[in-house]
Amino acid sequence: MADTEVDSFDAVVIGAGFAGLYMLHRLRGLGLSAVVLEQGAGVGGTWYWNRYPGARCDSESYYYCYSFDSALEQEWTWSERYPRQPEIKDYLDHVTDRFDLRRDIRFGTRVTGARADADGRGWTVDTDTDTDTDTDTDTAPVRCRFLITAVGCLSAANVPDIPGLADFAGRWFHTGRWPHDGVDVTGRRVGVVGTGSTGIQAIPVLAEPASHLTVFQRTANYSIPARNGPLSRAESDAYKADYPAIREVQAGSTNGHPFVVNPQSALEPPDDERERAYRAAWERGGLRFRASYADLLADEAANETASEFIRDRIRETVEDPAVAETLLPRDHGFATKRPPIDTGYFETYNRDDVTLVDVRADPIEAVVPEGLRLRSGTVYELDDLVFATGFDALTGPLLRLDPVGPDGTSLRRAWAAGPRSYLGLAVSGFPNMFTITGPFSPSVLTNMPTSIEQHVDWIADCLAHMRDTGADRIEADRDAERAWAEHTREVSEQTLLPRAATSWYLGANVPGKPRVFMPYAGGFARYTAACADVARRGFEGFRLTGSPAAA
Ligand code: NAP
Repeated sequence: MADTEVDSFDAVVIGAGFAGLYMLHRLRGLGLSAVVLEQGAGVGGTWYWNRYPGARCDSESYYYCYSFDSALEQEWTWSERYPRQPEIKDYLDHVTDRFDLRRDIRFGTRVTGARADADGRGWTVDTDTDTDTDTDTDTAPVRCRFLITAVGCLSAANVPDIPGLADFAGRWFHTGRWPHDGVDVTGRRVGVVGTGSTGIQAIPVLAEPASHLTVFQRTANYSIPARNGPLSRAESDAYKADYPAIREVQAGSTNGHPFVVNPQSALEPPDDERERAYRAAWERGGLRFRASYADLLADEAANETASEFIRDRIRETVEDPAVAETLLPRDHGFATKRPPIDTGYFETYNRDDVTLVDVRADPIEAVVPEGLRLRSGTVYELDDLVFATGFDALTGPLLRLDPVGPDGTSLRRAWAAGPRSYLGLAVSGFPNMFTITGPFSPSVLTNMPTSIEQHVDWIADCLAHMRDTGADRIEADRDAERAWAEHTREVSEQTLLPRAATSWYLGANVPGKPRVFMPYAGGFARYTAACADVARRGFEGFRLTGSPAAA
């Protein structure tokens, strides 16, 4: 296509995961023209890229899905309590076809930059074809009035900058960019760096075929048993019959999960009663353990009761006391970092062919051709090295796009000291740009599809309001943005969350990243009410203007 032929749309959406797909559906409903630009060769976002062994969602399947269409809720049946990556991908393919979304998605198209027009009323989006597709895709820029990022919070893979990686004689992988045709580790010596949610899912699965698995742990982690299993027909039918009530509980919740948090303090009941409550939650399994008491994330002494209960389970499970000791998390409280759930994680350390290495005590110094070398000089010989080292979370995916506002300021420059955002939805200086689940929104502290639907609906309502009032430019006010940042900081400080020094919520996992607590910790229901209030007041905190030509 010649440079002069530029496709133009009302909206460009970047990313075809849960967020981008629903956004496209809502834009169509408003009668707006839209295209989704997607780097991968298929839909799924997180669930397109994260194909590592054991990849599975930590939210339960019956609510890790869209709620916007009751017929969709009724026709899709999940096979397990927690859905595996391929099943979520199948679900999103089903949604894509059911709502005929595919024809407006350009796969294999990576956004390399976006520039706002000088008047802030439109954007030019630069694209490139990606190697992960054989689609012959147009690489000309695309024009739009509104730029909507649906790039996810955990999509920018964080590969640690360890010297020598290029000389490694074996194979290495990041879990978030796992090869699509799988990786056979049968009979091989495998090393895993990282014990976050991903590592904790992958380690027991990789241990099975590997001849030896070595886990390099920097920070010991809490984990709750998932208690996964097949979903029976009767269970699925019961969820389907109960959806209106389930959705109501989610809407009024702190985390977007359909759990009611016990309003009691963990310090109120006698020890034996509290122990029984924790045991019941442990047996039930899953993230719901967090809902055992109201103040687990607000009071250190309350939190310590849960933390110590889990440490006891680790001591009980792991046969070698020295290994158990290394696995005990002591530098942060339970759930102050995102708590993993697992299937047989701690049990894996009872295998003769699994070794735990404490790389806080003896840090990784270099990758050498034969494996990993620690500061002490010890070398662990490996055939395969797996980085389960997480992501440059929340800001990373947006900074990789690095949009440039009308005055020439890039997002990277605007956020040099840390992110700023109004409601997590918009950034001052970047008019006509919306960020689904951006920093300072509840996003990663919630069940993602729930937050995504709320954001997309809010953006769609905002665009409908602009259409109805003849506005064609919207920009967050700097003052409203400052006030929201202050509120976000205040609500996070009412919790224990910012105290976990190595948390990716704070940006602590990426060297040089500004330390700012990024997700909104005031609760999903409170956040939703704040967004609704802003809309009710005519999108207070935003400057909406009409086109001079149209005036
Ligand atoms: P993560 O929570 O950031 O964990 C990364 C791990 O790698 C940590 O143990 C970290 O240690 C370690 N690490 C990072 N750099 C290192 C280095 N240079 N040397 C040694 N160790 C290093 O990442 P993740 O496990 O991929 O999970 C990220 C988030 O994705 C989760 O918290 C969750 O929100 C989401 N997730 C969800 C699911 C699900 O729903 N099923 C599954 C996986 C992930 P430190 O703690 O010391 O930094």
